[in-house]
Order: sequence, then structure tokens, then C-alpha cells
Amino acid sequence: MTSLQLLTTQGTHIRLENGQINELKAALHSEVLLPTDNAYDSARKVYNAMIDKRPSLIVRCAYPADVVNAVKFARKHTLLVAVRGGGHSVAGKSVCDGGLLIDLSLMKEIHVDPENRRARAQPGLRLGEFDRATQAHGLATPLGIISNTGIAGLTLGGGIGWLNGKYGLACDNVLSVEVVTADGQLLKASPDENQDLFWGVRGGGGNFGIVTSFEYQLHPVGSIVGGMLLYPIEKAKQVMSMYETFARECPDELSTAAALLTGPQGDALVAVLVCYIGPLEEADRVLTSLRTLGPPLADLVRPMKYLEMQSLLDESYPPGRLHYWKSSFMRSLSDGAVSTMIRYHAAKPSQLSAIVLQQMHGVAARVDPGHTAFRHRKSQYDFLILSQWADHAQSDQNVRWTRELWETMQPFLERDVYVNDLGEEGEDRVRDAYGQNYERLVGLKKKYDPTNLFRLNQNIELTVKTT
Ligand SMILES: Cc1cc2nc3c(=O)[nH]c(=O)nc-3n(C[C@H](O)[C@H](O)[C@H](O)COP(=O)(O)OP(=O)(O)OC[C@H]3O[C@@H](n4cnc5c(N)ncnc54)[C@H](O)[C@@H]3O)c2cc1C
Repeated sequence: MTSLQLLTTQGTHIRLENGQINELKAALHSEVLLPTDNAYDSARKVYNAMIDKRPSLIVRCAYPADVVNAVKFARKHTLLVAVRGGGHSVAGKSVCDGGLLIDLSLMKEIHVDPENRRARAQPGLRLGEFDRATQAHGLATPLGIISNTGIAGLTLGGGIGWLNGKYGLACDNVLSVEVVTADGQLLKASPDENQDLFWGVRGGGGNFGIVTSFEYQLHPVGSIVGGMLLYPIEKAKQVMSMYETFARECPDELSTAAALLTGPQGDALVAVLVCYIGPLEEADRVLTSLRTLGPPLADLVRPMKYLEMQSLLDESYPPGRLHYWKSSFMRSLSDGAVSTMIRYHAAKPSQLSAIVLQQMHGVAARVDPGHTAFRHRKSQYDFLILSQWADHAQSDQNVRWTRELWETMQPFLERDVYVNDLGEEGEDRVRDAYGQNYERLVGLKKKYDPTNLFRLNQNIELTVKTT
């Protein structure tokens, strides 16, 4: 190959000569992959099999300095840039066609300081890898609930998980970050340095630069009481009514979720999931009202290690399936909402799909909405239609079902949406994800990324619409 064609941020193509690619290689300690390389195909794959994109160049960064050099190279040639952490963005924002993929997935260093209860972690780590390192010291920080998800994208968008009631969101536990900005500088952002950037990266996604290091606050988390109760779908109305009261009254130490799903035998079920991290001797009392409906089909709630809880749902979300998700926040679970969910669940085209309510409450809900870029600080549910299927031929009907359910649910949903659940809905929904914080984010974007180099994310537009 004597030259390589790449896509620019203007949508045009440029050709880079071998010499220019070799210059990049010489500046890096990282692997640079071209479409002709053996490792290229596995390196471009992301979690969602609906996404099949082919970057022209992949830089698999090993060090922050490599990220700096990759950004400078992209800037110099105005290349379209995608940034990849764990690759779990269902929207497929962490890969691109034709441009440069800055892949952080090999940057997996983590240093745990048990005395000061802090961890410094690189952006290629998955939740399970992070949890294993911190749990070796009996510590944890709030992350998500599937162990294969990347810490980077999850934290940068917010991060809702089993510890949110007691310790807040993932982004609430970030103490500092190191960020490579669009001009190729490696900046530290914390409460003492570049405070505006520190505010923006806690919810604002990858809009302001590439985070090469996260410093997290850790908390003591040992054995927990967790798991799920399963009921037949015929009991869904009673179960959801009990769940609504239970979730509303639950202490910060307990976080919950509920779901309509299909069990391993193909039967439609309603599940209530819990994770209680308070004193084990208190667990029975705290969970009593969960069991007032009489015996469920299965009661799988029991004492377990936190690591077990963190991988409890992994089997249901393996990489490589096709996904299409839609979501909004929901303040309360009305009879109308439950009836609609039951009706659509009965008609779902894929038995792998689920309709989920992930509770957000306690400390996560009590932070001032202006304190971080993530602003949805209310006790509420993240209402998620998690459609997944295995065969490309079924994509149209699954996407259609998801959209129809989401439209029909509108009377019961907020406009507000969690940015990490967004797909390709566009600017209006990104605004819904940030509400009154949006204008401040535009100001930050102008300051830290005035040419919108970092655009493959839920993008903060550089101009504010006046409607
Ligand atoms: C199966 C599954 C389960 C999930 N469960 C939860 C959950 O429990 N709670 C929750 O809150 N969310 C959850 N999510 C959503 C999750 O938070 C997002 O998909 C998140 O983006 C994943 O992060 P990632 O690093 O794997 O993503 P990627 O796809 O690598 O990146 C997502 C976005 O972040 C950008 N980005 C990634 N790393 C960096 C970086 N270091 N610097 C700058 N930008 C970067 C990318 O460019 C892209 O725009 C889940 C998603 C899936 C698929």
C-alpha cells in the first residue's frame, strides 16, 4: 500500500502517503492497524452487532502520550475521529467508517490505594476488571450492573448501578481525571484544577477530550444481600404495585430494579431485583415487604459477594448480539404504564428482549442538578426498552416494536433521558439529556473543542438553538 484514504471531519476524503503513516507509527509506542492487518477485524468490532463500521486506521494506544500523538495527528489532517473505551455504546459511537479510531481498550492499569480509599484507573478497563481490583481490598465504587461494560463511557455519561442509593453515581465518585484535549494538551481536571472541565466530564460524555485516567473515591463494600424474585407475568400488576411502594420506601443502602422478561424455559416473567449493602443482620427486615405477595416462582435473593452481584446478569447480555434500545426517565409507575408494558411484552418479536426499570434514588438523587453535567437528580426510574435479537433478518421488526412501545409509553415518561441510553435520536434528545445544563456545556465545548474534533458521541452542538 503506498497511500491510505481517510475521511475528514468535513466529510471529504484525503490520501495519506506511506511516509506520513510511518511518521505516526514512529511517534507512538502503540500498535497501528490498517484494514489489511490480521488484527484489524477484531479491533473494529464493538458490543452491538448492529454496528459494522470500518475505520481506515486504528491506533491501539498503550500510553497517554500515544493518545496525545494520535490526537495531534488527527488534528493536523482534520481526520474524523472515534474514541473507544469498552465499546459498549449501543449507538455505536465508539467506531467510525473511514476515519481514525483511537482505541483505549488496551489501557487497563489500575492502582488501588486502600489506605486513602482511592483508585486510579485507565479507560480500557471493564467494570469486572475494576471491581476485582478494588474488591481485593474490600472496596468498590458505584459503576453499572453488567461486568463487561467499559468504565470510561459509563462514568463520563453518569453511571447508574447498584450502589447509587448509598454512594451516588459513578461520576459523583470521580475525584480527578486526566484529559487529552483537542489541541493535544494533557490536562488534569479536579475540584482544584480546570474546574469547568471537571464539571463537564461528569456527565458530558467524551465531548471535551479523551480521558486517559480516572481517579475514583472507593467505599467499603463486602458481602451483600442481592438477587432476584421471579413471578409469573399474570401477577405483573400486583408485583409492580408492590414494587413501586417498596422502591419508594427503600433505604439508601438498597437499590432495586424491575423487569418484564422471558425466562430460560420460554415463560414470560416479572422480576424484582435488589442489592442491599447495609448490615447483613438488617437485610431480612429491610426486605420483608418484598415477600408479602406470597411465594414467587423463584426466590433467588441471598447473601453473596459483591462481585457475584456485579456479574449476575452477564449471561443475558453477551457481546455480539443485535441491539436497539430506547429509554426515558419515569417518575412513578402508574397502572396505565404497567398495562402498556404487559401488553407490548406479550407481543415482543424477540424472547431476548426485556422492559426494565432501573431505580435511581438516595444519594444519586440528592446531588444538586447543577453540580455535575449529569442533571437528573430525582428519585425515579430509568425506563429502558432493551431489545436484543440474534438474526439480522429480524432487525426491522425488533426496531419497529421498540419504537412503537416507546411512543405508546410517552404519557407515562419524562422528556428527560439518560445520555448513555441514547441512540441516533439527534440534537433534541441530547438537549433532553442535559436540560438546563446544556448551554453551559456549549460554552465548554467552544473552549475545549472549538472545531468539534470529538463529535462521535452524544454531541454538544457548538451553537445554541433559540426555540
Ligand atoms: C449490556 C449493557 C449494560 C449497561 N448497563 C449500564 C448500567 O448498569 N448503568 C449505566 O449507567 N449504563 C449502562 N450501560 C450503558 C453504558 O453506560 C454505555 O454504553 C457506555 O457508553 C459504555 O461505556 P464504554 O466505555 O463501554 O463505551 P464506548 O462505546 O467505548 O464509548 C461510549 C462513548 O464514550 C466515548 N468514550 C469512551 N471512552 C472515552 C474516553 N476515555 N474519553 C473520552 N470519551 C470516551 C466514546 O467515544 C463514545 O462516544 C450499559 C450498556 C450495555 C451495552
